[in-house]
Amino acid sequence: MSTLPPIPATRLLGKSGIVVSSMAWGMWRFAGRSVAEARALVEAALDSGITLLDTADIYGFDGSDGFGDAEKLLGRVFAETPALRDRMVLATKGGIMPPLPYDSSPAYLDTALDASLRRMGILRVDLYQIHRPDILTHPHEIARFAEKAYALGKIGAFGVSNMMPAQTAAMLAFMPRDLPLSTIQPELSPLCLDAITDGTLDLALQHNLAPMAWSPLGGGRIAAPTNAREIAIAAALDTVATVHGVSRTAAAYSWIMAHPAHPIPIVGSQHVDRIREAADAHKVTWTRESWYAVLVASRGEKMP
Ligand code: NAP
Repeated sequence: MSTLPPIPATRLLGKSGIVVSSMAWGMWRFAGRSVAEARALVEAALDSGITLLDTADIYGFDGSDGFGDAEKLLGRVFAETPALRDRMVLATKGGIMPPLPYDSSPAYLDTALDASLRRMGILRVDLYQIHRPDILTHPHEIARFAEKAYALGKIGAFGVSNMMPAQTAAMLAFMPRDLPLSTIQPELSPLCLDAITDGTLDLALQHNLAPMAWSPLGGGRIAAPTNAREIAIAAALDTVATVHGVSRTAAAYSWIMAHPAHPIPIVGSQHVDRIREAADAHKVTWTRESWYAVLVASRGEKMP
């Protein structure tokens, strides 16, 4: 049995020079709690070695209200405990402006970034990401926005999310030399293999992009599988989890990180214990056989 190499606890955020933990914690489900509860979650992530924290201006939006609420809540945590800001690499996103779906025009992103900074009570965010591709904006225009924001010291690095490989490639081509594209953020889990099969992670390898994997548990379905495919994936993960004495979810995070692009799973739980438990992912080692067994369970058919 050949064993895959262990995953280092830290990694570079693409070509940005910024060092981050190999796992991240996300704030999609963060809004709507007290500042004390919010602070406990942030501290749980930081104390368990997670230094990369991911939010977005739209997190908290419920379809009619709440735009900006996750950033506002984080801002209140910072106001109460300013030292927390220095312990993290903070990422946010913009470009979805409800009810108008997507806007990545420089004029809009300028105001969106300023509004994000204002809500969080900070002058600079470490990573700014385009949340979803805006078909109507030329990548050159997006690069122009990023270059200006970087020159003004408002962002430390730049990334994109949910772009198809060709869209990311177009973005790469227009980035200025002093601000390379650093990150991508596709959905990726044992349940969602698109980034593995559609060239997204290969592009990350080719251009040294750090992939941040959203919904690494398929929104929780890996913890609570409901159909035959999900149950088969859970069983393949359980086989490895049992050997290493960790939870199935820790095995799932680790399965994601074992890809040679070392995707960064964004832990989505808003429970202190589950956030802490995520670090168990580093206790897992994979053999080629066990890694492919999860892939096969997800595909629902043998490899060709
Ligand atoms: P996830 O880890 O796939 O799902 C988290 C959900 O699973 C939570 O509701 C959690 O509930 C639940 N869960 C149930 N059992 C669990 C267990 N044993 N351990 C951990 N969680 C369990 O991640 P996600 O929340 O969908 O997404 C993670 C992050 O990805 C987001 O916060 C955001 O930063 C990012 N994201 C980005 C995009 C994008 O378009 N770029 C889209 C979606 C998400 P509890 O909270 O009760 O533990």
